[in-house]
Amino acid sequence: MSDGNKKRVAILGGGFAGLAAARALQNSEKKHTVTLINRHPDIHCRFLLPDLAAGAVDAKHLLHPIERLGNRFGFDFIHAEVTKVLFEKKQLRLADGREIAYDYLIFAPGSETNFHGNNNIMAHAYRLDNAVDAIAAMKALASGRYGTVVVCGGGYTGIEVATHVRRVMNERERPVDTIIVEARDTILASLPNWMKIYTLDNLSRMGIRVKTGATVESVDEARIVLNDTTVYDDACLIWTAGMKAPSLLDTQDAPRGPQGRTLVERDLRFGPDRFAVGDTACIRRGSSCSRMAVQAAADQGKHAAHNVLRLIDGEPTTSFKLSDWGLIVPMANWRSCGSAFGFPVRGAFATSLHYLLSAYRFYGINNAAGILDYARSSYRRQIRSKRKL
Ligand SMILES: Cc1cc2nc3c(=O)[nH]c(=O)nc-3n(C[C@H](O)[C@H](O)[C@H](O)COP(=O)(O)OP(=O)(O)OC[C@H]3O[C@@H](n4cnc5c(N)ncnc54)[C@H](O)[C@@H]3O)c2cc1C
Repeated sequence: MSDGNKKRVAILGGGFAGLAAARALQNSEKKHTVTLINRHPDIHCRFLLPDLAAGAVDAKHLLHPIERLGNRFGFDFIHAEVTKVLFEKKQLRLADGREIAYDYLIFAPGSETNFHGNNNIMAHAYRLDNAVDAIAAMKALASGRYGTVVVCGGGYTGIEVATHVRRVMNERERPVDTIIVEARDTILASLPNWMKIYTLDNLSRMGIRVKTGATVESVDEARIVLNDTTVYDDACLIWTAGMKAPSLLDTQDAPRGPQGRTLVERDLRFGPDRFAVGDTACIRRGSSCSRMAVQAAADQGKHAAHNVLRLIDGEPTTSFKLSDWGLIVPMANWRSCGSAFGFPVRGAFATSLHYLLSAYRFYGINNAAGILDYARSSYRRQIRSKRKL
């Protein structure tokens, strides 16, 4: 039972949304019992996973222990997998059988790669959900087994991955054919035309081929077959063709939107005592959901925490206002493009913004210094390079 007005708040997920919520709850004057559960001991810097997968950046800059953040911000951390959410009993069940009771739940398990039900691809492709996945891809690329890398998905993650792989392998003087395969008739489908043109031009400079209107038909240890019968031998597949919400609520009576994301009200609730935030939450934007992005996740986590505190104090909740800082399509040769606060940005300036924001948004001063140092040396190598890359 909770002690008087001291409530138990459980946060499922220690990513950008969950940690922002934990921090905001413990920054308040009234201290409640905040328990955060995450399946990894560290928070992973997801926005630099493409750099990690290619072997460009050291993994140590992209991890920060959640236990340390718990000691700093004053929340309890449980390193465990949540296997079930029991809304009726207000409990979370952990993989080891423990049950964690809560008065309020902040549901923040993020997102995971969507293989669209294709088990063959799921078994053989590399994915980039977290640093563990990125390190697996990095080891495969470093093994020298592959002459071709196929990146499936022409969104900004796929483009980012392909450019890093191409650049790193060229620098190691072990160039690999790099191909982006996209099912639609264009890359970056939801972005403005000028970004598509700029990106296509840059990919072509880097010698990266783009195949639109194509999909992966089958894959095994080293052979990839496309639906147009193209076959790539000695090839490795990196799958970046979509994200979805984790399946944790699949058997629950919870409102769901596109990509299986939990539909939330304007105050981020999806039930009287529960909030969904970050990638897993769907804030309606016309017929689709809000974009999955770090800043949005952190803002939502913070807002849900404020609303939890308001509910505890018997006050009405407030509506969340989505603010979009913009987005960048990061490309490893420092010719990125995107928009920031409504203004178009491109080239080295756009790339610098990406790394500066990555350092700013992640946790740990040493990590920020490591990320900035990595970016500086990447830029130096780029301008020294005689190649067109
Ligand atoms: C490769 C890649 C590149 C990206 N690049 C950018 C970028 O450049 N800019 C940008 O703004 N965004 C980028 N994003 C998106 C950004 O990373 C997400 O929007 C952000 O991480 C969402 O935060 P979150 O807290 O919702 O989820 P996450 O940060 O994913 O955190 C969720 C946490 O919950 C844990 N979890 C899930 N299920 C369970 C469970 N059952 N039990 C216990 N723990 C669980 C997960 O392990 C994870 O630690 C990128 C994403 C990827 C994958």
